[in-house]
Amino acid sequence: MATESMLENARVNFDRAAATLGGVYDAELLRKLRFPKERSELRLTPQLSDGNVHVFTAYIVHHNNSLGPCKGGIRMSPSVTLDDITALAMEMTWKCALIGVPFGGGKSGIVADPRQLTPDDKQTLIRNFTRNAHRHINPLVYIPAPDMGTNEQDMGHIKDTIAYSNGHATTQGCYVTGKPVLLGGIPGRGKATGRGVAIASDAAMKHIGADLKGAPVIVQGFGNVGAVTCAELAARGARIVGVSDIAEAVYDERGLDVDRLMAYARSNGSLKGCGQGRVVSPEGLLEMACVLLVPAATGNQITAENAGKIQARVVAEGANGPTTPDADAILHKRNVFVIPDILCNAGGVFVSYLEYTQETQQEQMTEEDVKSRLEKRMRDKFKLVVGTAEKQRLSTRDASMHLALESVCAATVARGNLP
Ligand code: NAD
Repeated sequence: MATESMLENARVNFDRAAATLGGVYDAELLRKLRFPKERSELRLTPQLSDGNVHVFTAYIVHHNNSLGPCKGGIRMSPSVTLDDITALAMEMTWKCALIGVPFGGGKSGIVADPRQLTPDDKQTLIRNFTRNAHRHINPLVYIPAPDMGTNEQDMGHIKDTIAYSNGHATTQGCYVTGKPVLLGGIPGRGKATGRGVAIASDAAMKHIGADLKGAPVIVQGFGNVGAVTCAELAARGARIVGVSDIAEAVYDERGLDVDRLMAYARSNGSLKGCGQGRVVSPEGLLEMACVLLVPAATGNQITAENAGKIQARVVAEGANGPTTPDADAILHKRNVFVIPDILCNAGGVFVSYLEYTQETQQEQMTEEDVKSRLEKRMRDKFKLVVGTAEKQRLSTRDASMHLALESVCAATVARGNLP
C-alpha cells in the first residue's frame, strides 16, 4: 500500500520482514517491535537574541533497546512530526542490528528551521533542548548524533551543556557522537555516512557488473551525506552529472566539478546560482540519465509516480526512507538494484560506535583506522545482505530487514521477559 507517511512505510517494511521469519518468533514479540518503547514531546522555551522567549516543540523516541542504548540523530526541520521521529527511531533499531553495533534505535526532532536561526540562536536552542532532554541523554540510555539540520558544532554544544550542568570539564563516557575531534569526536565521523554510501555503491556497481569509473551519477541533497558522497564517488572515478539541494538542481552530462560545488555551497549556504550545468526541476532530476542514483536528502522522494521513470540501474539510499514501499516494488520488478537505507547509510552509526568505544575506553583512533574498519564493515555487510537475498529469494530491502529483525528478536529472547 502506497503512503506518504514515513511511519506507515516503516511498518509496511517491518511487516514484510516479519513474514520472512517463518513463524520462528512469537507474534507478541513481533507486535512489541512494531511500536516504540517510549515517545516524549517536550516544550522548549529559550530566550533568543531578539530578547523574546520563543516556544519550540521537540520529540524524543526510544524505539527499542534490546541490543543496547538507543542511538539516533537529532533532526531539526520545520515540518518534522512525532510520527516521522518514531519511524526514524524504528529504522535505527534495524540499522544498528544490521551493521552489527550494540545499540538500539532512537531519534529526536526539533521543530524549527535551522536556516531561519542565527548561529547564536541555534546554539541557544540546542542548549535548551539538551537541558530539557537531559534525563533522556546518557551513554546507557540514548546517545544522539547529527541528522538533517544539525551538525558537528551542535553536538559540541550538547556535550558542553551536559558537562557544564554536572560542573565538570568533560563528561564521563560518550553522551553524544559526531562531536568535533577536539572534544572527543573521532576523525572521519563527519565523512562516515557519505563514505559508507560510496563504498556500498562501489560494491553494488561491481555486483551488477558495471564500472564505477566514468559512471554517470545523480545525487539528491548536498548536505553532510550528499556532498561527501559526491566527493567520495568522484574520488573513485565516478562522473557526478546531477546534484540538487532544497534551493537548486543542476545537471551536466559531461560532469560537474564537485570541489567547486562544495566551496560554493559552503560560502553561499546553498547551490542556488552555482553557475555549473543547466538548472533543472528538482523532481525531474531523479528521472534523468544516470547509472547510479543517490537520494541523500529526505524521505518519500521515490514514489509510485516516478519509480517507473527512473533510469538508474542502482539506487543507493543515502537518506532515510527515500523510497515508498510501492516504489520499491516497482524498482524491484524493473530489476533496479536498491541498496536499502539501513545498509547504505549505516556507515555513520558504525563510526559513531567507534567514537563511543574510543571515549568510553579513553583511546584515540586515527582516521586511517576508522576508514579501514568502515570499508571492511560496509563490504562484509553488503556481501551478507546480497547472499541472504539470493539464498532466500528476497529483495535487498527484505533481506536487510530479515537479518536485522532476526538479531533484535534473538537479543529480546536472550534477555527474557521482565515481569
Ligand atoms: P543535511 O541537513 O546536512 O543536508 C540535507 C540536504 O538535503 C541539504 O542539502 C538540503 O538542502 C537538501 N534537501 C532537503 N530537502 C530536499 C529536497 N526536497 N530536495 C532536494 N534537496 C533537499 O542532512 P544530512 O545529514 O545530509 O541528512 C540527509 C539524509 O541522510 C537524511 O534523510 C538523514 O536522515 C540521512 N542520514 C544522515 C546521516 C548523517 O550522518 N548525517 C546518517 C544516516 C542517514
